[in-house]
Amino acid sequence: MTAWDKMRKRLKLNRPSLRQRARPPGLRTAAGTRFSAANLPSKLKLQHCSHCGHVQYPPTELCGACLEDGLVFRDTDTGGRLLARSDLHHSLWEYFKRRLQEGPWSIASVQLDVGPTVLAHLGPGNLQSGDRVQLFSHSDASQSSVLIAVPEATDLESRQARREIVTALGLDAAAIRPGGA
Ligand SMILES: [Zn+2]
Repeated sequence: MTAWDKMRKRLKLNRPSLRQRARPPGLRTAAGTRFSAANLPSKLKLQHCSHCGHVQYPPTELCGACLEDGLVFRDTDTGGRLLARSDLHHSLWEYFKRRLQEGPWSIASVQLDVGPTVLAHLGPGNLQSGDRVQLFSHSDASQSSVLIAVPEATDLESRQARREIVTALGLDAAAIRPGGA
């Protein structure tokens, strides 16, 4: 490899728009990293307080209700109601810039039946405010868990069913498309 080739390679690594594989934002807090690890093998795990029963999200060190140090990740009921949706038309992040070439990217706030309100990627089904939804976690191409909201009637039991939703959204690692340039 010549010095010129080396320089070009280095340049490519430093310019997201030239990378063949852009990645979603991967930076998480320590508690966020534990959330990703806990959700890797399961549908949805949130922190439950072992003192007062409060369900905590986003993940933190201490319970948001009683301030005790007793939060444990447990399988959590996935049901909730969509509060508001938003269609994004612009992103500064290369990974989403590429997806936005195909149309707006939908996100939503969801009030879970167990308490917390979360922000999630919005799956197929033209969901609107007030609709009943289900939430599941997915480990994205940066190995971080993100949340996806889908219609309540969707079958989420099998890993395969969840993977198909993720693929249709364009969020799985295999579906990464190279940039136009
Ligand atoms: Zn508590």
